Amino acid sequence: MALFGPYTGDSSSSEAYAIGVHWKEKLGYKVVEGSGFYGHFFGGQTWELPLCPSCRQPLQQILTFDLNDPALLELKVGGLSELPLVSCLNCSYCWEPQAFRLIVPENKVQIVDQWDDQDWRMDEEDRLPVPLPQTSMKLERMTEDDLPIDEDCFELALERFGREQICRILGAPLYLTDPIDRQCPGCGSEMIYAAQIIEDDYTQKPPLISVVDFKLGELVLYFSLCPSCLILKTEMQGT
Ligand SMILES: [Zn+2]
Ligand SMILES: [Zn+2]
Repeated sequence: MALFGPYTGDSSSSEAYAIGVHWKEKLGYKVVEGSGFYGHFFGGQTWELPLCPSCRQPLQQILTFDLNDPALLELKVGGLSELPLVSCLNCSYCWEPQAFRLIVPENKVQIVDQWDDQDWRMDEEDRLPVPLPQTSMKLERMTEDDLPIDEDCFELALERFGREQICRILGAPLYLTDPIDRQCPGCGSEMIYAAQIIEDDYTQKPPLISVVDFKLGELVLYFSLCPSCLILKTEMQGT
């Protein structure tokens, strides 16, 4: 079923709202560290990545999903066998929407559009490594408690996001503000909502990601994918 944002498709659809019973049964997956049957991973670099226009270092492959996993069938489009979620986490690049083209079978990421004009860079000592150290990840099915079907459920799910998992893939997104703009900058059609990423909550012991102190600031990155153009778009929302 389509999930329309306020700037795409039918804004009168119930899917245009961040919270509500229309999310019932939209069970995606929570992404946690650990080995599973499929080759999902955090960090590493298996794709050819462009340089961040601001840092002049390659973008970071934050999480990569093995699309042979039948749980992620919806994202297995256009000859993709892996879905890399990329951005630069060391500057203001990830604060603005960015669009990338995924080129297969070469496994190459190309910048389509970028809107960063703030030119802010993280202090040297706080920068996350490029590439990020790699570790295996696995998927856990969401439960009813993870869905934003009303304000209370939304608050509880948001509290666990960042304390129990750093990523949610497919299913119902948790929007900090409004639903994201999912219009494809290539063809104008509606993109598939893919995933959202949050930092590891500092109160968490042991950490959710053992190989790096995964701090992003108080922001959530959302990723959507156009099945026809293989354009991956990121958008940020802050608390
Ligand atoms: Zn950068
Ligand atoms: Zn498109």
